[in-house]
Amino acid sequence: MAIRRIIELGDPLLRATSRELLQPSEADPVFCDLRDTLHEFQRSHGFGRGIAAIQIGVPLRIIYIEIRGECHELINPRLEWASKEKFRLWDDCFSFPNLMVELDRHQRIRVRYQDRAGQERQINAEGDFSELLQHELDHLDGILSVDRVVDARTGFATRTEYLRSLGAC
Ligand SMILES: [Zn+2]
Repeated sequence: MAIRRIIELGDPLLRATSRELLQPSEADPVFCDLRDTLHEFQRSHGFGRGIAAIQIGVPLRIIYIEIRGECHELINPRLEWASKEKFRLWDDCFSFPNLMVELDRHQRIRVRYQDRAGQERQINAEGDFSELLQHELDHLDGILSVDRVVDARTGFATRTEYLRSLGAC
C-alpha cells in the first residue's frame, strides 16, 4: 500500500493503451495503491472521484471510483451500451488538475466488468456517475478529456477561472 505519483499530461505513458488482466488477482495491490493515491489527492486538492491504473503508471485495465458514498473496483471494464442522449459538462482530471475541459458525455451507459473474484458484473450509470465512468474508460485507451473538447477556442479554462465564472471565488 502506497501513495503513488500521478503521471501528468505530457508523459507519453498517459497515451498508452492498457492491457487486459488475465488473472483478476493481479489487481489486488493496484487497488490498494489507487485507493491510497485517490485519498491523498482528495486531501491535497479537495476534489477527486476516480482514478485509472495508468495514472499511477500501471498500464492495466483497472479503474477505482468513489462516488455517492460507494466505492467501485472495476477490472477489464468495457462499455456495453450508451444512450444517444448526451449532456455537456466541464470535466477535470488528476493528470492536469488545473485545467477544465468542456465536453459531451452520454447521459446513461452500461458497463460490464470483472470484480476481484473474477465474477462478471455490470453497472447501469447515469448523470455524474455515467460521465465519470466514461472519463476513466477513456484513460484505458490513452484518450484524454482534452481530445474531446467541444470547441478548442472556448472549451478550456483554468480551474481558478472556471470557479470564478461560477461565482465561487
Ligand atoms: Zn483523468
